[in-house]
Amino acid sequence: MTLICNLDHYTLNKIPQHRIEFIELKLKQFIKKNDIKKWPLDCVVLLKELRDSKRMPLILGSVPVTSSIFDAQARYYPDLNVYMFLINKSKVTYPFKSSKDRRLNFTLAHEIGHVVLGHLDIPDHLKTKKDRDIEEQEANEFAGRLLAPEQKLLSCNFTSIESVAAHFNISKQALWKRLNHLQKLDLIKSKPLVVCNTCGNSEVSVFADCCKICGSTIGKRMGVEIVKYRSHKLNPLGKASICPICKNEETHSEGEYCKICGTFLYNVCAPTEKVSDTNFYYTQKSCGAYLEGNARYCENCGNESTFYRDKLLSYWIDEKNIQDFVESQEESYSQVAATLEHSYDNYNFIKERWISFLDFLDNLKSQYVALFNHFELTNIEYDEKENCLSMGFMLKWQMFKNSGMPDSFHNAKYEMEHLFSRYANLEDIDFKYLGAKHKEFDDDAIPF
Ligand SMILES: [Zn+2]
Ligand SMILES: [Zn+2]
Ligand SMILES: [Zn+2]
Ligand SMILES: [Zn+2]
Repeated sequence: MTLICNLDHYTLNKIPQHRIEFIELKLKQFIKKNDIKKWPLDCVVLLKELRDSKRMPLILGSVPVTSSIFDAQARYYPDLNVYMFLINKSKVTYPFKSSKDRRLNFTLAHEIGHVVLGHLDIPDHLKTKKDRDIEEQEANEFAGRLLAPEQKLLSCNFTSIESVAAHFNISKQALWKRLNHLQKLDLIKSKPLVVCNTCGNSEVSVFADCCKICGSTIGKRMGVEIVKYRSHKLNPLGKASICPICKNEETHSEGEYCKICGTFLYNVCAPTEKVSDTNFYYTQKSCGAYLEGNARYCENCGNESTFYRDKLLSYWIDEKNIQDFVESQEESYSQVAATLEHSYDNYNFIKERWISFLDFLDNLKSQYVALFNHFELTNIEYDEKENCLSMGFMLKWQMFKNSGMPDSFHNAKYEMEHLFSRYANLEDIDFKYLGAKHKEFDDDAIPF
C-alpha cells in the first residue's frame, strides 16, 4: 500500500493542503469548544481557563532559567495523561508590555498547537528531524491562525505595525510573518483611516468633534479595529425611508412623524441633559444638525440623537457584541458547510483507501495481535466515534515502529488523522460498514 502523504511535500514553509485543512479544522474545533469569541487572545489567561475548567489536562509552571533559549515549552506525560507548560521567567514580563514580551503569547499559542494537533502524543525519540520540522511549521501555522484570524486581520486599520501587533497581542515579527504568509504585506503601506479607538467607528466626518456612535471626543483617532454599525436608511432629506418601529414604508408624505405609529422619523441633534464641571445639571440645546441613520450622538456638539433618545438605536457596545457573536457563528457555519462539501467530494476516494487499509490490516492481523500484547494502549483519548478508526491507526503506528521505519509513521499518523477528520464530519455514510469491518477485527485483536 502506498501513502499519499509524501514528506517531500513539506518543502520550505509549504504545508500541504490536506494538512492545512486539518489544522484549520482542529483550530475551529478548539475555538468552538472553548467558546473563544473575543480577540486579542492572551494565552496565559486562556491556558489558565483550560486548566481550571479541566477542558485540557494541564499543569502550568514557570522556571527561572537565564541561560536557556526557550520562552515556553509544552510536554506530554503519558503516564499521568497531563500536558505540562513551562514558561521561562527570565525571558518575558507579564502582562505583555513590549513587542518583545508579546513573543511569549505566540510561543504559548504555538505550544497549544502542538497539543491540539496531537504532536506531543508521539514520543520525541520516535521522530526524525524532518518530523520535528514539520511539527514546528504546523504549530506556527496554528498559532498565527489562532491569534490573528485572517478575516479580522485584513479588516484592520493599518496605522502602524506596532499598533496592529499590539491589537492582536503578538510581536511585530509575528505580525510581519503572518502578513507575509497571507501575501498581504502591502497592507502595512496602506493609508490609515481616522477610526474611533473606543468603538471602532470609521465614519468620521472632517468636521467632527465627537464620535457619532459612542459620543467620545475625536482627537487624533487612529483605532486599529474597524466596526461597521448598522444604520436606519434615510432619504436624501434625512427622514427614515421605513419607520423603524412599525416598518411603514409610506414615510415620503409631509410631516415629521410616522402616520401609523407616531414615531419621530428624523435623526437630529436632541436637547441633552449634561453635568457641568461644578456638578450642575443643565440641558444643552440642540444645535439643529441632521444626523446619519446610525448616529447615537451629534458629531458637532456631542448631544444625543433623537433616534438614540427614542431607543431606535441600541447602546453601541450591545450592537458590537451582537456583531461579534454573529460573525463567530457565521464563520463556524460556513466552515462546517465547506468541510462537509469537501468531505463528500473525497468520500469515495477515502472509502477506497480505507477499505484497502482494512484489507491490509486483515492480512497482518496475527502480527498485530502479537504486537498488541507488547504494547500498553493506555492514555489514548479519542471520542467514541473516532475510536474504531484510531485503533486501526494505532496498529499501523505500532507496526511501523516495530519494523524500524520511524520515518514513515508521521506519514501514517497524518494520513489517518486526515481520514478521521473527514469522517468526524460525516454522520450517516457507510460508518456501519466500517464499524462492522472493524468489529470483527476488534473482537479478536484488542486486548482490553
Ligand atoms: Zn514547537
Ligand atoms: Zn466612537
Ligand atoms: Zn411607524
Ligand atoms: Zn448637535
